[in-house]
Amino acid sequence: MTRMKFMNTEIDNLTMEEALQRIDELVQEDKAAYVVTPNVDHLVQLEKGGQLNEVYRDADLILTDGKPMIWISHLYGNPIKEKVSGSDLFPRLCSLAATKGYRMYFLGAAPGVAAKAAENLTKKNPGLQVVGTYSPPLGFEKDADELKKIIRQIKEAKPHILIVALGCPKQELFIHKFKDMMNVPVSLGLGASIDFEAGNVKRAPKWMADHGLEWVYRCFQDPKRMPKRYFNDRKIFAMTLKYWKKS
Ligand code: UDP
Repeated sequence: MTRMKFMNTEIDNLTMEEALQRIDELVQEDKAAYVVTPNVDHLVQLEKGGQLNEVYRDADLILTDGKPMIWISHLYGNPIKEKVSGSDLFPRLCSLAATKGYRMYFLGAAPGVAAKAAENLTKKNPGLQVVGTYSPPLGFEKDADELKKIIRQIKEAKPHILIVALGCPKQELFIHKFKDMMNVPVSLGLGASIDFEAGNVKRAPKWMADHGLEWVYRCFQDPKRMPKRYFNDRKIFAMTLKYWKKS
C-alpha cells in the first residue's frame, strides 16, 4: 500500500510516473474518482478543520505538491519519494490523454484562459481532445442555476478527465459535492495550472520550485494576494513540531 500518514492528512507516496499510471487506472475504473494535490497552504487549511477535511478523507489519490512537504517527511524519517505538483502533472496528463484518447474538460481561470491553454496543449499533443472549457462567473458557487448549468455542460461533454482550477478550497469542495452528478471518471483540482499552460501567468523557474522557493516568485508576481497567503502558511513550522511528536 502506498498510502501513508503525513501530518494532518494521508499521502499516496508515488513518483510522477506511478501517479500517472494510477490516474490511468482510475479513468478505466470509471467510478467518479478525484485527486487532491496538497501543498503547505492546504495543510494549514486542513489544520483549521472543516469541509476540506472531508474532501481529503474521501480522496482517491493524494499527491505531494511542494518541496517543503518532502523536507518535513525526511525530518520525520519517513521520506516521500517525489514532489508531484499539480502544475507538473497537468501537461503530463494531457500527453497521456492524447495517447490514450481520453477526453478532457477544463473548468476555471479567467474568461478565455482555459481555451488558450487548450489551444497550446493541443498544439503540443496532437490528437488531444479538450471537449469543453468554461470560466464560471464570480460567486457561481452560491448560484444554483449557474451550478446546474456547469454540471449539465460537463455531463454532456462526457470528459474522462476534469481539471478544476478555482483555487483551494473552492475547487476541492466543488469536485467533492458534484462528482457523482457529473460522473466524470477522474477529477483533479489543479489551482493555477491552467493559467500556466495558457501562458498568462509565468511559472517560477524550475530551480526555484526544486528548492522550495516558488512562493518568493509568486509573491513578486502577485503582491496583493500571495504575501498574505504565505504569511498565513508560517503556521507550518508549529505544525511540523506538533506532528513530529506524533510521528
Ligand atoms: N479562480 C476562478 N474562479 C474563482 C476563484 C479562482 O476561476 O472563483 C481561478 C483563478 O483565476 C486562477 C485559479 O482559480 O486561475 C487558481 O488560482 P490560485 O493562484 O489560487 O491557484 P494555486 O495557487 O492554488 O495554484
